[in-house]
Amino acid sequence: MKPEDPERLLADTREKYRRFVNPGLERLMSFAGFGLEWEAEGCYVTDAEGNRYLDCLGGYGVFSLGHRHPKVVEAVKKQLDRMPLSSKVFFSKPLADLAERLAAVVPGDLQYSFLCNSGTEAVEAAIKIARKATHKSKFVCTIGGFHGKSMGSLSASGREVFRAPFDPLVPGFVHVPFGDIDSMREAVDDETAGVIIEPIQGEGGIVIPPDGYLRQVAELCRARSALLIVDEVQTGLGRTGRMFGVEHEGVEPDLMTLAKSLGGGVIPAGATMGTPAVWEPAFAENPLIHSSTFGGNPLAAVAGLATLQVIEEEGLCERSAQMGERLLRGLRAVQADFPSHIAEVRGRGLMIGIVFSEDDVGELCVGQLTARGVICAYTLNNPRVIRMEPPLIITEDQCDFAVSAFGDAMSATSALLQELGG
Ligand code: PLP
Repeated sequence: MKPEDPERLLADTREKYRRFVNPGLERLMSFAGFGLEWEAEGCYVTDAEGNRYLDCLGGYGVFSLGHRHPKVVEAVKKQLDRMPLSSKVFFSKPLADLAERLAAVVPGDLQYSFLCNSGTEAVEAAIKIARKATHKSKFVCTIGGFHGKSMGSLSASGREVFRAPFDPLVPGFVHVPFGDIDSMREAVDDETAGVIIEPIQGEGGIVIPPDGYLRQVAELCRARSALLIVDEVQTGLGRTGRMFGVEHEGVEPDLMTLAKSLGGGVIPAGATMGTPAVWEPAFAENPLIHSSTFGGNPLAAVAGLATLQVIEEEGLCERSAQMGERLLRGLRAVQADFPSHIAEVRGRGLMIGIVFSEDDVGELCVGQLTARGVICAYTLNNPRVIRMEPPLIITEDQCDFAVSAFGDAMSATSALLQELGG
């Protein structure tokens, strides 16, 4: 239901952002013309004015099941009425069930789970576990990679604009170009605890590595007794057309991180998973060496269980592959009409990036898309790329709507640029 005075509500909320949240962020969001989100269902978000938007950003990968998937909502509501948070003393059945289910769906021997609340926490845990298991502290990561913004995961992330203001970061992290196996080979040595890598760089600009790269990195890790730590926070759970991004290359990591869509778009949830060979030495002396008050709480755990069930029941990995093909084809047809502005459209499954030839064009296009009822955003580490990561439940008609809106948005953007240039 629409609020009574949406204009006033937006103005009040902006003012509160200005005074109590983050004035710069308020300016940025207002400049982009974003309104006040009010409700959401399936693939749509509705603002306070009652305008409906097709959510092609999907909360940066959070809403793989769409908004408020009924099965996740039902599971969470049931748990809410019984016991929302854990005593942290007794055994928790939802936590144990989710850990068991995760072990069954992940590749290889990732038997154990540490459950947490976000991607950055999952990566922090992976770093600590890797250090403890290997007694080494060097990590090789990739330029443009994104793993979160807390100190450890920021140290693993590869974009200076976010890193430099917080120097000195955690020591021991080196960065090599993504997709370049020779640089990786030079960097990984016997002192390396692990390589931290995304199967496809998300915030780096939806960058797909050359075929065979991940497999070669895995072999290199084995040869140097370094751990392969795969960050599937964005790529995991069907996003790329397979359950996990590493499955495209048949790679089995030693540690893997999950978050974003794990909570079904309803409750925040994250997980770090590891093989017995890594887990047992890390936790053997002290089982409380790493823990979290809210991690694996009953609400998040039942949301995670329902999410895995829905992905399977609704065939969302296959759907992601099929709808991804359709969207990619449509967006590439638009690219052909604007060759001087769009350099490339690339992606796998429903993780798609549109690469612009110049800075700022993407931002203009995002504004035009919003005005046409489609939510999109650029990637955090590469402002030249805007991404489409819609819910995996997206229909053919909705894909076609997004493509047509993109075509119109590009026409308007191109006309605007011509005006500015002339
Ligand atoms: N890892 C990857 C691959 C991500 O894309 C992100 C967020 O975009 C993170 C980690 C950090 O997740 P969070 O924002 O939940 O801390």
